[in-house]
Amino acid sequence: MQSSTIRELFLDYFSSKDHLVMPSFSLIPQSDPTLLLIGAGMAPLKPFFTGEKKPPHPRVATCQKCVRTPDVERVGHTGRHATFFEMLGNFSFGDYFKEEAIAWAWDLVLNGYRLPEDRLWVSIYYEDEEAFKIWNEKIGVPADRIKRMGKEDNFWEIGLGPCGPCSEIYYDMGEEAGCDRPDCDVGCDCDRYLEIWNLVFTQFSREASGELVELKQKNIDTGAGLERLAMALQGVYSIYDIDMVKPVYDHFYNLAETDRRDQEVPLRVITEHSRGITFMIGDGVIPSNEGRGYVLRRLLRRAVRFGKLLGMEGNIITDAVPLIADIMGPAYPELKEREEYIRQITRLEEQRFQETLSQGMDILEEYIENIRAKGETVLPGDLAFKLYDTYGFPLDLTAEILEEKDLGIDREGFDENLKAQQERARAAARVSAGEEDASKYKPAENMTTIFTGYETLEQEGKLILALVDGKEQEELKKDQKVEVLIDYTPFYAEAGGQIGDTGYIESTSGLIKVENTFFSPWGQIIHQGVVEEGRLSSGEKVIARVDSGRRQGICRSHTSTHLLHRALRNALGQHINQAGSLVAPDRIRFDFNHFSAVTPEEIQAIEEEVNKMILANVPVQVEMKSLEEAEQLGATAIFTEKYEEDAVRMVSAGDYTLELCGGTHVSSSGEIGLFKIVSEEGIGSGLRRIEAIAGMNAYKQTVERDRLIEKISSSLNTSESRLEQKFEEHMSDHKALQKAYHEMKQRLAASEVKTLLSEVKDVEGVNVLSAKVTAENQETLRMVMDEVKNHISSVVVVLGSVSDGKVILVGSATSDLVNKGIRADQLLKEVARRVGGGGGGKPELAQAGGKDTAALPAALASVEELVRGQLKTVGQA
Ligand code: ATP
Ligand code: MG
Repeated sequence: MQSSTIRELFLDYFSSKDHLVMPSFSLIPQSDPTLLLIGAGMAPLKPFFTGEKKPPHPRVATCQKCVRTPDVERVGHTGRHATFFEMLGNFSFGDYFKEEAIAWAWDLVLNGYRLPEDRLWVSIYYEDEEAFKIWNEKIGVPADRIKRMGKEDNFWEIGLGPCGPCSEIYYDMGEEAGCDRPDCDVGCDCDRYLEIWNLVFTQFSREASGELVELKQKNIDTGAGLERLAMALQGVYSIYDIDMVKPVYDHFYNLAETDRRDQEVPLRVITEHSRGITFMIGDGVIPSNEGRGYVLRRLLRRAVRFGKLLGMEGNIITDAVPLIADIMGPAYPELKEREEYIRQITRLEEQRFQETLSQGMDILEEYIENIRAKGETVLPGDLAFKLYDTYGFPLDLTAEILEEKDLGIDREGFDENLKAQQERARAAARVSAGEEDASKYKPAENMTTIFTGYETLEQEGKLILALVDGKEQEELKKDQKVEVLIDYTPFYAEAGGQIGDTGYIESTSGLIKVENTFFSPWGQIIHQGVVEEGRLSSGEKVIARVDSGRRQGICRSHTSTHLLHRALRNALGQHINQAGSLVAPDRIRFDFNHFSAVTPEEIQAIEEEVNKMILANVPVQVEMKSLEEAEQLGATAIFTEKYEEDAVRMVSAGDYTLELCGGTHVSSSGEIGLFKIVSEEGIGSGLRRIEAIAGMNAYKQTVERDRLIEKISSSLNTSESRLEQKFEEHMSDHKALQKAYHEMKQRLAASEVKTLLSEVKDVEGVNVLSAKVTAENQETLRMVMDEVKNHISSVVVVLGSVSDGKVILVGSATSDLVNKGIRADQLLKEVARRVGGGGGGKPELAQAGGKDTAALPAALASVEELVRGQLKTVGQA
């Protein structure tokens, strides 16, 4: 039976039992910030189990994409564990319970999938008599086929809260799949007894006292591995042989070097990981050094490294993406849609890793040699950390390579280094954010402040807390730097990229200038500023006024950001997601994921689209919805933000954009006026940043440009319309002049050389030239000397010049003369001495300098005599 049929049969079966079939949720958890990746069918449904959210139907069935990183070490070593797999599941939220769950699972396995009964086994929690009775009496499974297992295997529990016993269905793959141990049985760690389906009966709640209490609302949560069912139904011993995976395995098998094709584990690992990588990127995970991005990076790096072990070259994973997208596309169309994007991301990451790998490997090899030389067996933590921190070499990779060489790693030492570094980084971040210890705001912890600034910019309120340096004050005095809380405030506290408001807080007796507004660690709105006039006392009535011009600028920027987000998606693809932003009154910064630079043409198109939406003057509306409703309406949420479940703010601009957003906006897009993109740049792997301006600031920029153009036009003595042409004329004139100038200079130099050549003297059969020339530096002097030497094959040259009130000298002797005993270095030393300086070099070439410019002519004149002297010395020797 084909995998696709197994999937369909499951969902159809539970649909016929009144289950709502929901499509697979994203691998990225949408409503559980504590979770990195979805690892089970029930994970995205958790709010329905806990009662936090009302399920769309009391019975649900799904086929859910899953990533289970804890299983990563088992991949390849067993035939049945993958990090990426699909889990089929049926769920009951306080509806049916144990009896139906067991009966339906058995019915589907026997009559739907037609697995042979004599190969099936079941397990129960050893104390769950209810389950035993259902299996044994109602279903008719013989008692010796029902294994009782302990807490570890068959009781599902995470900390406190809902928990309960499980019951599993096993399929016997046959003796040949087993480990041959005499005690091999259901539950053995080998591949013989394959756990295909786990039924979890959530019936208790674990209390803090340790007690188990029966739940009023009992739930069913089941999970059946699609790949494992396929193993049983296709009669193969591993997931690498099932229809969905085999072609990928074969692809890698063929890529491996012939003599390495029997390396089963690496082949399996790379096959398995490449599937997971493709799905994760398809769902929007981007490689990074933390969180789920790190999980992805780790899988990819592991796969590439195993690929290398098999002798593979090039972009190993990238090239497998189209094949995986083809196989899995019919069930997961997003893979086909984003195929090109997935390939771009993998390619980038593979190439990066290749570089890291070769660099890190060299360094690690060196470390290993050092350890061995010292007779040690463990890599010190600081070195492992250095590899990780400076060279981006993953710790687990270091550990793996060391392990292959029977060496260990000092993990504690590594952790210490890591912690110290994180502490440094945190301290640095605190300093740069101007933020200190949270305890500073401790007195605010139990207070309430209410934001009224969506509707009004001026608000009456009461000053409920006044702080100076974190200490509560009864009274605030002039010039004090203060932080205050008011019960009702129109000031927006920095959040979601939008910066905090500024303005004034006024009482009958004093005035505070508010310079920043932000949230305390407990969510109160804090105004930070200076007392400009008078005094204010705690408990006093105040009027708070937001700087409305600045706020208006912020609103323009914020709505522009939404328009930009949508325009980016339209121009570059649906994979674009906001990765960070800054919304200020005078500028916008927008970070997003994209694999390549945005071209000038694309920027132009994006900017134009945003401006069209501004001209269309569409209404900007805010509505409160439940998170679920908003999601159904297709509102864009930012992954990194947390949202309330029951009331989210949905901001739309016409039907052009719809985002969950807590920020402040203009009321119609026309208020923005004008939008200009200022720059686009890369800020990390797969991340880009656009900076833009809007409103008055964009207008000011055009005015500034006009002024510049006018200035240039007038200095070029032309009109704006002829500016471009005039500029080109100027440029070509400039080039012609430059060329003429160079020629002239060369001609001058040539004629100077000609004069110099006429000054060459014959000193006892040796050509000698010593002369004063005009040159600004040693370099030019050398050039003139070289030019002379180009014309005479055998010569001693000493040239001097005065530059900046100092003497500079160069000298040289051709090698035939050096053989005769001429030494340019000694010659120059002597000449330099006469001008009050010194120098050095080699017999063939030397340079020197001095201070006494007046003595230069005489010094140069002495060269003849000096040469004679050198010749004589040799003659005597
Ligand atoms: P195992 O003991 O075999 O690791 P498990 O007890 O961790 O399985 P559950 O958490 O109960 O499994 O998950 C439900 C079902 O999902 C399992 O019965 C199995 O069919 C499937 N499954 C679990 N882990 C994996 C995996 N790593 N690869 C493929 N399928 C899996
Ligand atoms: Mg497991």
